[in-house]
Amino acid sequence: MTEKRKNPSLIENVSSLKGVGEKSSALFEKCGIRTVEDLLLYFPRDYDICEPIKNVSDLVPGEVSAVRVCLVGNMVFRPVRNLKILTFKAADVSGEMTITYFNMPYMRNNIKPGNYYVFRGLVQKKGSLMCMEQPKLFKYEDYLEIMGSMQPKYPLVKGLSNQLFIKTVSQAIMSTPYLEEFLPSTMKREMDLMDYSEAVRKIHFPASMDEYLLARRRLAFNEILEFILKIRFLKREEEESINDFSYTEGKESEGLIESLPYKLTGKQLQIWNDIKADLMGKHVMNRLIQGDVGSGKTILAFLSLLFTAENGYQGAIMAPTEVLARQHYESFCEMAEEYKLSIKPILLIGSMTAKQKREAYELIASGEVNCIVGTNALIQEKVNYNNLALVITDEQHRFGVKQRGMLSEKGVNAHILSMSATPIPRTLAIILYGDLHVSILDEMPGGRIPIKNCVVGTKYRPTAYKFMRDEVNKGHQCYVICPMIEEGELDGLENVMDYAANLKKALPGIKIGILHGKMKPSEKEEIMSSFADGDIQILVSTTVIEVGINVPNATVMMIENSERFGLAQLHQLRGRVGRGKDQSYCIFINTSGREEAKERLEIMNHSNDGFKIAEEDLKQRGPGDLFGIRQSGEMAFHVADIYQDAKLIREAAEYADRLLADDPDLVMSENARLKELTGSNLFDFTAL
Ligand code: ADP
Ligand code: MG
Repeated sequence: MTEKRKNPSLIENVSSLKGVGEKSSALFEKCGIRTVEDLLLYFPRDYDICEPIKNVSDLVPGEVSAVRVCLVGNMVFRPVRNLKILTFKAADVSGEMTITYFNMPYMRNNIKPGNYYVFRGLVQKKGSLMCMEQPKLFKYEDYLEIMGSMQPKYPLVKGLSNQLFIKTVSQAIMSTPYLEEFLPSTMKREMDLMDYSEAVRKIHFPASMDEYLLARRRLAFNEILEFILKIRFLKREEEESINDFSYTEGKESEGLIESLPYKLTGKQLQIWNDIKADLMGKHVMNRLIQGDVGSGKTILAFLSLLFTAENGYQGAIMAPTEVLARQHYESFCEMAEEYKLSIKPILLIGSMTAKQKREAYELIASGEVNCIVGTNALIQEKVNYNNLALVITDEQHRFGVKQRGMLSEKGVNAHILSMSATPIPRTLAIILYGDLHVSILDEMPGGRIPIKNCVVGTKYRPTAYKFMRDEVNKGHQCYVICPMIEEGELDGLENVMDYAANLKKALPGIKIGILHGKMKPSEKEEIMSSFADGDIQILVSTTVIEVGINVPNATVMMIENSERFGLAQLHQLRGRVGRGKDQSYCIFINTSGREEAKERLEIMNHSNDGFKIAEEDLKQRGPGDLFGIRQSGEMAFHVADIYQDAKLIREAAEYADRLLADDPDLVMSENARLKELTGSNLFDFTAL
């Protein structure tokens, strides 16, 4: 959207809002929020729904519920080690329960005998009675007021409270009368979509689940439509783009296939043929290979680079991390030497010295090397290529859209091959990408030892720690995944910081490291390489490790709050183990008492096939599911979810195709705003 059309109050700094001083505006900035608009577009990650009050006799363990009860008997107050525990019995007409508070001795004064209060919290069963620990306490009248409403929960940073967030957002909504609509009104009517401004307001404060779903639908639709239109435009551009290079069948690449210690699978061979046909074809290639983790994409990349080298051109491969880039570089060098190949790889990464980089630039510019292995960032820099014909992006979870843009700016019309490990079901991939070239590698090389899985509750933790200790003693390494980085982001979920501190106490003598998305890239690289080198034995991390890292020596993956992740994401995480010659294990810790959560995780327990899991995910998740947890930045969509919104994606794609059939260049006046949305920064978006 262009700035000039924007409502002026949107571009003001958040500090213009009441109650936002210097300190809080710095905290907002940490969340990436500068302007009022940023704030409005920072959506809740979850909601607290204050459910109707239940009878004690109807309580179900594992659910969060509210009861209206009165104190019976005495309060018992006892110190246990450094905990001050307050326990009492409470009851309504239907039965009795136990309520416990830790380190909140003042609660004693808040609860008067003979009075009824509402307690809301997670229900557990302790002995024969239901129990709540640390429930929230409400006066009955106060609870009635918020009952049924959805209270937004924002992803926070330390020091910024959800309450302040809520207050600030409601102010922003009041001071901002509208956000400009950009969809044609016919489209809104036909697709039954909420007004944009209304959707943004309601996503923060939905009056009901239905309202939330409608707001979410509109916001998801925005993202999906933008994505699809951009992909369609891109495709059109490519159809007109001529292959500037002339490739002929190569002896070395074909010879390598014969001499590898393993036989390529049928699917690998098929995709290799597709790639060759593209490279030798009339138009420039833009192919996406989707293959499950461990399906053997790297060898296809290497073959393509070798084929390019033997045809006299340069090729480059970009990896998301330096560790992965280095891994590729080393394995490419080994193959080049072992099979006496003409390919000459060179490494180009940020941590190299200025002198090393300069030397690399020279070798690249002169054409002395023909296979550049590096990170995304470096290939964007001012490297002068010598006849660059192929660019591969590995594990980027995204289509080579940005890269295409960058390269065309440089006047290079290279072929692009993207490799992604997000198993999107084929049907969906085709809808999203149209008939852009997507190859699906859904056959695993034989001879793998399948990962052993288990889904267990938190009681199993001590056993799991002991198990990890044994694995570490055998010389192996482990991952523990927590959904959050630090305390206070979302209640009740494990966070990396506290978890690592506790794990250090539980496993003295074991070298434990931490990794999360808020670390500087250089810090992340350092942690990843010391894990790869075996200096860190257990790595406690958020889902940032989902991308890239390959440490065959790691044999245990333990995932906390695993019920909060999508199945496809769990599968990605699990794919970090089972990469070596030893038996690997995945431990899913389920902290939810809900039956659905258990059933969902059982799918993981019984299948190691990413495409099957993706299909199941598609079937199981309904539009009623809330956001869940995801790492922002890596995915194309913030609100939309390719699995959950499969139906909306189909509808949006159909609509977009009809729209483009009528108005191929979006020149009609009612489409002008849409054109602005998709026309600007055609290349500047993250595809899947
Ligand atoms: P990913 O698709 O996750 O990038 P890799 O390319 O890293 O997977 O492959 C994982 C492992 O499988 C590597 O050690 C590779 O050598 C091996 N591999 C690849 N193709 C085959 C095959 N056809 N048969 C046996 N092993 C293979
Ligand atoms: Mg790979």
